[in-house]
Amino acid sequence: MLFLIREKGYEITDVPEDADVVLVNTCCFIADALQESIDSVLSYASLKETGNLKALLISGCMAQRFKDEIRKELPEIDGIIGINSIDEVCTAIEEAVSGNKTEHFRPLSDRPSDIKGRTLSSGSGVAYLKIAEGCNKNCSYCIIPSVRGPYRSIEKEILIREAKELAEEGVKELILVAQETTLYGIDIYKKKALPELLSELSGITGIEWIRLMYCYPEEIEDELLISIRDNKKVLPYFDMPIQHASDKILRSMGRRTNKSELENKIKRIREILPDVTLRTTIIAGYPGETEEDVSELLEFLSEAKFDRLGVFAYSPEEGTSAEKMPDQVPDEIKQERLERIMLHQQEICFKKNEDQIGKDLTAIIEGYLPDENVYVGRTKRDAPDIDGMIFIENLPFEPVSGTFVNVKVTGQSGYDLVGEYYESTE
Ligand code: SF4
Repeated sequence: MLFLIREKGYEITDVPEDADVVLVNTCCFIADALQESIDSVLSYASLKETGNLKALLISGCMAQRFKDEIRKELPEIDGIIGINSIDEVCTAIEEAVSGNKTEHFRPLSDRPSDIKGRTLSSGSGVAYLKIAEGCNKNCSYCIIPSVRGPYRSIEKEILIREAKELAEEGVKELILVAQETTLYGIDIYKKKALPELLSELSGITGIEWIRLMYCYPEEIEDELLISIRDNKKVLPYFDMPIQHASDKILRSMGRRTNKSELENKIKRIREILPDVTLRTTIIAGYPGETEEDVSELLEFLSEAKFDRLGVFAYSPEEGTSAEKMPDQVPDEIKQERLERIMLHQQEICFKKNEDQIGKDLTAIIEGYLPDENVYVGRTKRDAPDIDGMIFIENLPFEPVSGTFVNVKVTGQSGYDLVGEYYESTE
């Protein structure tokens, strides 16, 4: 959308008070995200009284999921842009600025728009590459399939073209995202084509790191693991959300794995990629979850020893089957379990960080902390925003964001590492 807006000749500002038009790209995955989206919309709406604002538009999941409610309850909004209509953003802006309420929606089964260009909102040599849209898995707690539609892979040619353009703009690290990346290609090529895509992307000059997010455990096969092992640009980093480890809960969630399959999958990943960083996500307080289920989960986590782990409190989403299930867990218990799981994992993460001390790693520079006189970077073990960082002392030059440097790890600071620059002898 940023690309199309800029192409049309509009100037983009990150100072909302100066803007004639504000477009809020919303989320509604869980209740907290929805509330944050609504709060943003309301705070920008107040700029109609106090600033220059002529039109307020929204796009993204909240726009798609709650269009009827938005029409009724949020008259401050002048334009609503659905998931599949982001290529109509400029028309929507023009209509809204001229004083007409506007809505742009196309069926969710349509192919995602092919927008021939990108304007990066992330600095620092990193860009996300969305390889597919939607999901067919229908986990019982998840609203995504009904908000974003069925799984639609984006053609390889489009992705390669986009990645080449990003590389020309200085992007060094590509982060492949989708609601589920491991199934890439199944709809358009009738087979899982992620290994091929990784191989083609890694042929692009300028792209140095390729990171995979949102891998569904059941869909990770040897072919994918081997293609990662044999392709030095693809990082040995797996984000594999498991959500739980109790068979009873996994079954009720509609997940297609069980505990023993998860154990085997983790073992296999580590056999083929001994240096892998494994990240996962857990839901705490799913309906019917008992103390026994939590103990089973904690025991599993002690064995699995994930390098990174995020926990969400279960959020009952309207329209999902889990919302109507009996034995909903009270909020305070969900929160207590969430904290218990985090604390349990903290010990594992800190120990894993300790094990890094003395190692030589490559880091991509993301920023500088003038007060501490240290640079901030990420290693292959860290995805932006969700994982840790490495603080680098004694850099003898001033690198721009996105520069790769060699670092010897000298210590740890909680979830982060501390290191010293060293010159490569290669
Ligand atoms: S696989 Fe992920 S996106 Fe798809 S339904 Fe399950 S939780 Fe939602």
